[in-house]
Amino acid sequence: MITRFAPSPTGPLHLGHAYSAILAHDIARAAGGQFLLRIEDIDRQRSKPEWEAQIQDDLRWLGLSWDGPVMRQSERLKVYRDCLEKLWTSGFLFSCSCRRRDIEAAASAPQEGVQLGPDGIIYPGTCRLTGAPKPGEPLPDAALRLYMDRAASACSYTEIGERYRGIHAITPAQMIREVGDVVLARRDMGTSYHLSVVLDDAAQGVTLVTRGEDLFEATAIHVTLQKLLELPVPTYCHHGLIRDENGKRLAKRDDARALSKYRAEGATPADIRRLVGL
Ligand code: GLU
Repeated sequence: MITRFAPSPTGPLHLGHAYSAILAHDIARAAGGQFLLRIEDIDRQRSKPEWEAQIQDDLRWLGLSWDGPVMRQSERLKVYRDCLEKLWTSGFLFSCSCRRRDIEAAASAPQEGVQLGPDGIIYPGTCRLTGAPKPGEPLPDAALRLYMDRAASACSYTEIGERYRGIHAITPAQMIREVGDVVLARRDMGTSYHLSVVLDDAAQGVTLVTRGEDLFEATAIHVTLQKLLELPVPTYCHHGLIRDENGKRLAKRDDARALSKYRAEGATPADIRRLVGL
C-alpha cells in the first residue's frame, strides 16, 4: 500500500489538509505501507518555497513522517513534456489558441448552451481542426487539448471513500459529453494538474489516492489518462471536506483555520486529530 499527500504550496495548511494528510498517513502505516509527500508546485506564480517549508514543518509537528525524498512537480517538467510530445506525435492533442472569453462566447451560442464539466465550460471545439498536428510538426508552445473522442476508452476504477464507494465505470460517450477536450498543457505552465498528477502517482507507485471529495469528478479524467498512457489505475478514496461552522468548505485563504494559528494558540497534534475527527 502506497499513499500520498500532494499539497500545492500556495498557502498555509489548514484543518482540511491536516485531515487529508493524517488519513493518508494512518492508512499507509496501518497497512505497513508507505506514505509519500509530493509538492504540487507547477503554478509558478502562486507557489512559494516558504509555503513548502511551512507545510513540511506542520506535517512534522503533526507527527507525520513520509518515506523517501519529497517529489516536486517543478523538477519534473521534462517528464511532462516528453509525455506531451508522445501524445502530440500520436495525434491525441491539438493546440488551442482560444481565450477564456472566446470559449464562453462560443459555448453560449444559442444552439449550444453552456455546459459545465469538472474543468469548467465544456470546450466547444473551435480549434479541433486548425490546431491538429501537421506531419512532422514539433510540439508547439501553446495550450494543448486532448481529443477526448480519440483518447477515451471504456474503463473503471474502485472507490473506497464513504460517499462514492463502489466500482465506477467510465464510457467514452460520458467523457465526450460531460468532460470534453480537456487542457493537458496550459501555455503558462507547460503542463496541467491532470497530466502531472497522473504521471506522478504512477512514478511514485501510489496504489491508493486519498484526497478531498472536491476532486472526485476529476477522477474520470485521471483514469482515462492512465488507460491512454498504459499506467496502473490506483484505488481512490475521496473523503469528506472539513467545513467551517457555516458549512462552507475551508480554502487556503481561510487563515483562521491555518494549522500554524492553532499551533500558536497552544494546540497539540492530538487536539488537531480530535478537531478533524480522527
Ligand atoms: N494539489 C492538490 C491540492 O492541493 C491535490 C491534488 C490531488 O490530491 O490529486 O488540492
